[in-house]
Amino acid sequence: MESLSRIVADIAAEMAAAPDRGTPAQYIPPLAAVDPAHFGIAITLADGSEYAAGDADLPFSIQSVSKVFALTQALGAVGDQLWQRVGREPSGSAFNSIVQLETEHGIPRNPFVNAGAIVVDDVLLGRGAPREVIGEMLRFVRGLAGDEAIHVDETVARAEQDTGFRNFALAQYMRAFGNLHRPAEEVLGVYFHQCAIAMSCRQLARAGRFLMAGGVQPDTGLSIVSPRRARRINALMLTCGHYDGSGEFAFRVGLPGKSGVGGGILAVAPGIASIAVWSPGLNERGNSQLGTLALERLVHHTGWSIFDPR
Ligand code: GLU
Repeated sequence: MESLSRIVADIAAEMAAAPDRGTPAQYIPPLAAVDPAHFGIAITLADGSEYAAGDADLPFSIQSVSKVFALTQALGAVGDQLWQRVGREPSGSAFNSIVQLETEHGIPRNPFVNAGAIVVDDVLLGRGAPREVIGEMLRFVRGLAGDEAIHVDETVARAEQDTGFRNFALAQYMRAFGNLHRPAEEVLGVYFHQCAIAMSCRQLARAGRFLMAGGVQPDTGLSIVSPRRARRINALMLTCGHYDGSGEFAFRVGLPGKSGVGGGILAVAPGIASIAVWSPGLNERGNSQLGTLALERLVHHTGWSIFDPR
């Protein structure tokens, strides 16, 4: 294998020159205004060494990548009981789809579509008020990344709140089925704030380390989740982490990964690496165009796909 620093530098150079960068999310002004020229990549290996290139230290809106952290916390709170209220199947539908909720009696397909993440937040609200839940989530992510600078971008949170009609519809619809226990306004207050967490690729790659290491945070030796739970979260990221583009992502990249409409992707090479990429332009499925391409290049050069022979 070529040296990893060379590989990430080459990928960043290729992405800087890429002509087709996709389009940044347009549904809120603070995301629509992000320059599509950005590209960042950061990799943390099991031994703690890091490789980064491009805009790896520029914070961006992690959006739905936050669903991985919220899920991890909810599983910690209620364990496998969570699966009585959220499914584990890929949706094949858009991230904000409402259609399956009718035929499936208000049970979202998985924790990574919006409806599923909203139920996950409802579960977290069983432990405290909205302010405490979001504070606890921020503390959790800061602890995982080992970085107290991670914060919520309040401008993004407000814009989510002002335009989140569809998320309100999802929440109210699930409430009608009895699958939301708290008022929609409270649950969505948490959801919009978690989407508005801002992190850099380097911070995100560090925060994902426990998923590559059987649930253990490598530098502190702290057990974040059991090995079985880490394996299961990775399985959900592989099958559901890119909405209706999850099959395509597995085909092209072959790693558990979670994307967000801010253009970030957290990907995990189990036993090997935690990887974060960011480029704001999205493809037609709402996943980062160049982020996906960069990960495709990375696994090609490293053989890190989970489908490559070990
Ligand atoms: N804030 C976005 C929404 O709920 C997140 C979607 C995403 O990142 O895919 O609409």
